[in-house]
Amino acid sequence: MKIKVLGCSGAKFPGHNIPGFLLDDDIVFDAGSITGVLNEKAQIKIKNIFITHAHLDHIRSIPFLVDNIVLANKYHNKVNLYSISSVVNIIKKHLFNSSLWPDFTIIPHPDDAILNLVKLSLNKPIKINCYTVTPYKVNHTVPAVGYLVEDEGGKRFFYTGDTGPSHEPWDKIGDKAINCLIIDVSFPNSMEEMAINTGHLTPLLLKEELLKIKNMPEKICITHPKPKFLKTIKAELERLRIKNLKVLRDGDTIRI
Ligand SMILES: [Zn+2]
Ligand SMILES: [Zn+2]
Repeated sequence: MKIKVLGCSGAKFPGHNIPGFLLDDDIVFDAGSITGVLNEKAQIKIKNIFITHAHLDHIRSIPFLVDNIVLANKYHNKVNLYSISSVVNIIKKHLFNSSLWPDFTIIPHPDDAILNLVKLSLNKPIKINCYTVTPYKVNHTVPAVGYLVEDEGGKRFFYTGDTGPSHEPWDKIGDKAINCLIIDVSFPNSMEEMAINTGHLTPLLLKEELLKIKNMPEKICITHPKPKFLKTIKAELERLRIKNLKVLRDGDTIRI
């Protein structure tokens, strides 16, 4: 599996892109930075968007992406937007509502629209291309899931999206081997209270999460740090001496 990091930042500044992970050419996990990073040709290839939760930094590109595809006259390339129903409902009600943005679930034609909203059930796998994708509940301030992705060869990664201390995904993953864990660390240790109140992790909270996982993931990739605290977070992570841990950067490629 090859995942391109379109963005992995916990805040938006020049040179710091908000979350988006491109698997192959047509599947993305979170849609913060699709249109700011990919050119038109690459945007048109995107067919499947898995959203962890409806916070703006994770969905910002969707309205521009579907507009770009329709304008390119490629609207026969439907874009499927997947998440649990509470997340899909928020996106439909507050974004594609013909007020904040045109309702692309009925554009260009109500019976042939560019954007197809697909509601997933928690813990229930769905097959996309050669992958099995399963949403597991994580602990954030709004309804949120992480995605376990498995290829036909049995390789797996788990992307948490935004999460504070959690039990559900680790219980559900059980003793399955995870080749790569992409996990939120947004704040430094000194801001633990803020991290917990806003549904995020610090380096020390990450350490506690890892103790809950039966099989230590082969590779651990850190996403969503606040750029303002990046240096401190990196230093604190280094002190934990966790094997095969990497703080992701925009533009990185993760190979699994
Ligand atoms: Zn969030
Ligand atoms: Zn976020």
